[in-house]
Amino acid sequence: MMVSELDASVEVPVIIIRGSTDGPTLLLTGGVHGDEYEGPAAVQRFMRMLDPSELKGTIIGIPVVNVSAWRNRSRFSATDGADLNRSFSNPNSPDHSRMLAEFVFDTFVRSSDVLIDIHSGGQRLDHLPLIGWYRNGDGQAEFLARRFHREMHPWLVPDAAGVLSYEAHREGIVALGTEWHGGGTLDPRGSVAIVTGLHRTAALLAMIDSDREGTTDNRVPIAGDYQVTEHAGFFIPLVNLGQMIDENEPIGSVYDELGEVVSTLHAMRKGIVAGLPHLSYVYAGERVVYIG
Ligand SMILES: [Zn+2]
Repeated sequence: MMVSELDASVEVPVIIIRGSTDGPTLLLTGGVHGDEYEGPAAVQRFMRMLDPSELKGTIIGIPVVNVSAWRNRSRFSATDGADLNRSFSNPNSPDHSRMLAEFVFDTFVRSSDVLIDIHSGGQRLDHLPLIGWYRNGDGQAEFLARRFHREMHPWLVPDAAGVLSYEAHREGIVALGTEWHGGGTLDPRGSVAIVTGLHRTAALLAMIDSDREGTTDNRVPIAGDYQVTEHAGFFIPLVNLGQMIDENEPIGSVYDELGEVVSTLHAMRKGIVAGLPHLSYVYAGERVVYIG
């Protein structure tokens, strides 16, 4: 790894707390997308609460992974327009985002035992709070996720190449991902819930002494994916976040400026509505609902 070369062109704010005794390495990441605020707030706050003399192992906090996107108040890198969360282990990603992804992955992810990558809906989406893990793991990520926080629904995260937590999972790291509402604003209830979840995770990993280990959330995990609209326009949903819907049920229509229906979207699967647009004018090809 050629850190000096990369240092000249990527900026990664990182807080590392090394405990006084040995233990696992826990990596916390926020701000992979620059318009999501609960993750940065939670990582900053949690890291400042830690006492190295009482910590076993190492906790690495990167509150804002994508600084250029953060300062641009955008989901995408300001440097090259790429989505950093499709750039991990992706040789086809534009140069700067690929370099940033490689630097973060090689420097921090590979040497970690557990990763928690914290997201929210950003400007475009409003998400049901979710705490997720991937299929085909050894069960530890699911165990930790189900103890994280009752306000966050258990979630089987869809496999997606280039996504930080998925690529970490593929490397054998215990990887969790989270979502919390969105809309491009900070919901303090979200950052507080996530800080609670991080405490529980550190306690369950025996890194800190705490009686805050939570209880297991045995709800059936949300397991689905996003649906996109083929047409641009004014999207008016017919469903609410958290609502259970059937396959083929109408979930909303796209209208033109005169109020004519351009298209109506129908649910591709049965499940819980776990994500809807925050910005009501939607682009063709944009994600408009998550059903899981
Ligand atoms: Zn995100």
